[in-house]
Amino acid sequence: MCGVFGVYGHPEAAKLTYLGLHALQHRGQESAGIISSDGKRLYAHRAMGLVHDTFTPADLSGLPGAASIGHVRYSTAGGSHIKNAQPLAVEYARGAIAIAHNGNLTNAEEIREKLEARGSIFQSNADTEVIVHLLAMSTQRAVEDRIADALVQVRGAYSLVFLTEDALIAVRDPMGIRPLVLGMLPGAKGPNVVASEPTAFDLIDAKPVREIAPGEMIVIDENGLRTSSPLAATPRKSCVFEYVYFARPDSKLSGATVYEVRKNLGRRLAQEQPAACDIVIPVPDSGVPAAMGYAEKAGVPFELGLIRSHYVGRTFIEPEQSIRHFGVKLKLNPVGDTIRGKRVVVIDDSIVRGTTSRKIVKMVRDAGAKEVHMRISSPPIRWPCFYGIDTPTRSELVGSSHTNEEISRYITADSLGYLSLEGMLDAVTRTPGFERGPAEFCHACFSGDYPIDVTPPSKGRQLPLLRL
Ligand code: AMP
Repeated sequence: MCGVFGVYGHPEAAKLTYLGLHALQHRGQESAGIISSDGKRLYAHRAMGLVHDTFTPADLSGLPGAASIGHVRYSTAGGSHIKNAQPLAVEYARGAIAIAHNGNLTNAEEIREKLEARGSIFQSNADTEVIVHLLAMSTQRAVEDRIADALVQVRGAYSLVFLTEDALIAVRDPMGIRPLVLGMLPGAKGPNVVASEPTAFDLIDAKPVREIAPGEMIVIDENGLRTSSPLAATPRKSCVFEYVYFARPDSKLSGATVYEVRKNLGRRLAQEQPAACDIVIPVPDSGVPAAMGYAEKAGVPFELGLIRSHYVGRTFIEPEQSIRHFGVKLKLNPVGDTIRGKRVVVIDDSIVRGTTSRKIVKMVRDAGAKEVHMRISSPPIRWPCFYGIDTPTRSELVGSSHTNEEISRYITADSLGYLSLEGMLDAVTRTPGFERGPAEFCHACFSGDYPIDVTPPSKGRQLPLLRL
């Protein structure tokens, strides 16, 4: 869970990157960083925190040049520490290179052990750093060949942007697990911006050009844009959770707007999991589009029965469970008059640990609801993601060890209903404009069907299952 951005050939490259990162802030709130190039050398600024807290005007003017890349981070591999903030940058025999990564490598530990045994010294705990070491060690001359050399050795999910003194390079893993899109700034001669999601283009008036294809490498430099496919082709497996929860609803990915996809998930949920009710309310913000679709299909009024305070970040931001507990109340407050005496359907996009749903059901009941029916616009999350979404241990996933009835009892709902896997894939792919088929998704977190072999890291993964 991270966001990446890159721009080439604009006099205010770092400022555009700052704006692009703003639009990608939902993809990571722990740290932010920008590295720019003035054609001779690279300049960096990285810090913990949100984009607007992290960069002062002085920081931005310390990032000169016409090319720049940026990163917002939500730690999945490596801890939450400034040394893991990206973009990473190194000097090696042939110059300097910076890298920003969204995704997770599944064989990073293995490669790192080998490299360390041969004397490599790592500066961070992030899996991304293995790519830097591999490309620095490559015997190829051209930087794109070095990058390709490195990437054929790694497995996993990656949407990457690199910056050298004179080029911007973007690469997406062969399965296209994480999104990466190409755009063009007004007045540019050709495509010259890349971002995790096209919403980053809207803010800077860039036009989305196309998705970067799975396995594609794009190099943008003074000669324009070159594209190649240096990585062996495999079937596409894009992350379905991007549509369920992670991507911004106003992003268009693979031909469909995420907001429309989520409404469709809600409609399908109403068909699969009906409930006798008086109102449908979303868990804001993530459940809003699905609740709209559900209410529309069920023919029941949609109400904003929970109001979200926008002055706190996501409750998931802090990895500490204790803070997350507190967070729900800080974030949401029920509208008593709307809820009182009603049979309420509450819609959320997913249940991870179950703590949010439990608190919300209690909150809605305490506000006077006669019945509370929880409906979820995706299947139970039963498996950890090893490709960059923060759902790390099976033991923490309430869906991995409990039946729907048990979870319903745990969250104290009158009933609980999830969308089926088939229903989810069908609803996503039937959204108007959507260009892919149901076989082109990774849904390992729901199905356990991992498209890339994972050797689960040894420590801490197989703890005793959660007791309710
Ligand atoms: P939980 O309390 O652990 O069941 O969290 C469920 C809530 O977290 C739902 O409202 C989701 O919208 C949200 N959520 C789901 N997956 C993630 C994730 N990987 N990171 C942050 N929030 C998430």
